Amino acid sequence: MAASGTLSTFRLPPLPTIREIIKLFRLQAVKQLSQNFLLDLRLTDKIVRKAGDLTNAYVYEVGPGPGGITRSILNANVTELLVVEKDSRFIPGLQMLSDAAPGKLRIVHGDVLTYKIERAFPESLKRRWEDDPPNVHIIGNLPFSVSTPLIIKWLENVSCKDGPFVYGRTQMTLTFQKEVAERLTASTGSKQRSRLSVMAQYLCNVQHILTIPGRAFVPKPEVDVGVVHFTPLTRPRIEQPFKLVERVVQNAFQFRRKYCYRGLGFSNLLEWLTELRKTLSLTNLP
Ligand code: SAM
Repeated sequence: MAASGTLSTFRLPPLPTIREIIKLFRLQAVKQLSQNFLLDLRLTDKIVRKAGDLTNAYVYEVGPGPGGITRSILNANVTELLVVEKDSRFIPGLQMLSDAAPGKLRIVHGDVLTYKIERAFPESLKRRWEDDPPNVHIIGNLPFSVSTPLIIKWLENVSCKDGPFVYGRTQMTLTFQKEVAERLTASTGSKQRSRLSVMAQYLCNVQHILTIPGRAFVPKPEVDVGVVHFTPLTRPRIEQPFKLVERVVQNAFQFRRKYCYRGLGFSNLLEWLTELRKTLSLTNLP
């Protein structure tokens, strides 16, 4: 949703390429940190376009690295972009971008797993939950080892309407290993349907908006990458506490995979689940 008012277009001035920035600041990817960079700005533009209309938006980018997606966000006419990057080597390159986009880019050297975004943007952006989403977006290409725990944390935040969702139904556009993207978006009855599908879809409208081949990254990861867009639902499909839903869903999927047949005690589990299914009306379970 674009705020009304004067629309001024902003474009970054000509800058060194991301490849040159990597060379200039010696930003070789650290394999142990699963760093894989996007250097093709047409591709980063495409990711950002798919995130929605960012005109006058406040955007939180997680893990900007050398700044490919960051440039595309800045060119999307946003009001403010806040980036949180853990690896200090990237800060000078990001500072150069900040100088090229005066007043638009705020850089935090920190950890997205602990950063409190709920205090970062103006109160005036807040919308009621049942209203249209606020003009606040989260975008990021993080290591897979960070993006999966982070989305679980953020789904719990959606259910509690806290963290990044104090602003309302903040939309998120995040990358995952393609298989994880497929699981997040798998519909009932499909082979990829999993715990993650139910946990994401009971709280959000989830769309797999783009697949990026591994070869588009430097260095090339061993897997392809899926870009997933999340919009929190006005009403969750299951109106129960997150932790309870998480436990029931976890047990239901273990049960499906049979190997827990003995460990969990078949008759007790079946009775327990039948009872819980009735109570929670878990129509989405397999
Ligand atoms: N977004 C950039 C791109 O697409 O080229 C970089 C992608 S690289 C896969 C992930 C980036 O996230 C790296 O810059 C890494 O240092 C950063 N990162 C990893 N864990 C992080 C965390 N917990 N908090 C903030 N940044 C993190």
